[in-house]
Amino acid sequence: MSLKEKLWQEYTLRHAEVLWQAEERRERIYKENPALAEMERKLSEIGSRYCVAMVSGGDADALKEEMDRLQAQRDSFLASIGADFEPHFQCKKCQDTGMAEDGMCDCFRRELIAENFRRSNLDRSLAHQTFANFDLSLYSDEPQNGRFSPRENMQMILNLCKDFAADFDRQKKNLLFTGATGLGKTYLSTAIAKELLEQGKSVIYISAPEFARRIEVIRFKDEEGELEQFFGCDLLIIDDLGTESRTGYTMATLADMIDQRLRADKKIIFSTNLNLDGIQKAYDERIVSRLLGHFAYCHFYGEDLRIKAFKEGR
Ligand SMILES: [Zn+2]
Repeated sequence: MSLKEKLWQEYTLRHAEVLWQAEERRERIYKENPALAEMERKLSEIGSRYCVAMVSGGDADALKEEMDRLQAQRDSFLASIGADFEPHFQCKKCQDTGMAEDGMCDCFRRELIAENFRRSNLDRSLAHQTFANFDLSLYSDEPQNGRFSPRENMQMILNLCKDFAADFDRQKKNLLFTGATGLGKTYLSTAIAKELLEQGKSVIYISAPEFARRIEVIRFKDEEGELEQFFGCDLLIIDDLGTESRTGYTMATLADMIDQRLRADKKIIFSTNLNLDGIQKAYDERIVSRLLGHFAYCHFYGEDLRIKAFKEGR
């Protein structure tokens, strides 16, 4: 069951629970105040007579007056004892159903986002890593060996990442980030993840060693349900591909997962310090052909930003 379906279920229960509590309050107050039950009995009797009078031409006006008087009497009695039969929904807009007139209620969306954040493994310390905070000026604008300058290269990658997040549902390609450490691969993965989480998408962020470890643990615990999150989330980000311990089993599972996600049109971002040559050496043909055929290749180059910042005393 997806997180969204689980949350719908929770909302259905929450709505029913609030109605049930209101009904329980009503029953208790009527039990404690027999005079109320008597008023209701009279009201219902006069109500029936009023209906008959309306149809058969009796004195409906007098009965209506009597009904109004009794209703006012009952209401003022209820007010005097502070009776409250209203259902107390957490969200007045959707009455805890999660659905508002214009679609999914904001409260539902907020809870979905918060839960997706909790499940994403995204480190809170990376909260500042957003597209808006991304600083291109850290990258050199000197052209390198006939290639674009690192800054121009990053500008292109940044645009691609922003498009990827902004138009996520229509993306055809996945992303493969390659290049040395300290060039912003993790930063941009995080920025994309945060954008998508804000949109209510489910994202799982995991390092390749942790991913491989989890696959092995799940294998021996025989709890395949745990694998579901990697297959089912809207975006899976695997960081540091190539640093995991590669066994036949983890590689077969990785290849299966890539295939299943491609078939289901669910996106993946891999980041790796390996270059294409290194990827071809480390992985078998099945994985390599997927990476080459279905991923947009973003190569990060330039000077390690952390070393650069250190040198410049930032
Ligand atoms: Zn709501």
